[in-house]
Amino acid sequence: MVSLLKLAKVTEEGVRFLSPHDGSPMLLTPEHSMSLQNSIGSDIVMQLDDVIAVTSPDFARIEEAMHRSVRWLDRCIAAHQYPERQNLFCIIQGGLDLDLQKKPRYVMGVGYPEDLVVSVALGADMFDCVWPTRTARFGNAVTSTGTLNLRHSSYASDFSPIDEGCTCVCCKPASAGGLGLTRAYIYHVASKETAGAHLLSMHNVHSLLNLTRRIREAIIEGKYPEFLKEYFGTLYAGKKDRYPVWAVTALQGVGVDLMED
Ligand SMILES: [Zn+2]
Repeated sequence: MVSLLKLAKVTEEGVRFLSPHDGSPMLLTPEHSMSLQNSIGSDIVMQLDDVIAVTSPDFARIEEAMHRSVRWLDRCIAAHQYPERQNLFCIIQGGLDLDLQKKPRYVMGVGYPEDLVVSVALGADMFDCVWPTRTARFGNAVTSTGTLNLRHSSYASDFSPIDEGCTCVCCKPASAGGLGLTRAYIYHVASKETAGAHLLSMHNVHSLLNLTRRIREAIIEGKYPEFLKEYFGTLYAGKKDRYPVWAVTALQGVGVDLMED
């Protein structure tokens, strides 16, 4: 819908498109979008929403899109065939107007580990991103001290685990039921076989899940500001002059000063 918006007309019934292939009229309704997503079995089903440009200056249109998206959500819920096994996610329109956006905050297409820890501080609840698996295909491993490219020849004889202390199946020693893989092993398979990308994908997804688990624990304990300072301290080996300015500034906005001792 976003890419075809210029060819579309939104009505209460649904979105009318002219097919980009042959110009024939098509109608996408909330019910039809649910049936498509039910049929492919997606774990996350997105409701059909009334899409508008986030930077639109037209407040009346933004408000209409927000209310229509809520009405379409009701139709999607009614049409959902497998609510017990597929999660229906709502989409809140409302542009950049904070009063129209008081719902769970799902940040689409984000992101790097430092993006996640900062976004959580700013109030984000959920994320999705291809980065952990895509970067794995380029031989990159997420670690607590940054991202390492294990295709680099400096890892050819590095027999330490991908990330010290990681509990994923790749890093865990064989004595603890894991594979006990080393950086050198990944280096040698990464350039020749897709197995290297698969192994790093498992490690990277585990790393990000573990990061969000630690974030949740720190929030529950009321220690998220301390967590942030420790996280950036480890990531940049205590060198505060290397901290990204955007992260320092964003966190200052919510009362966390990474630069103070
Ligand atoms: Zn690991």
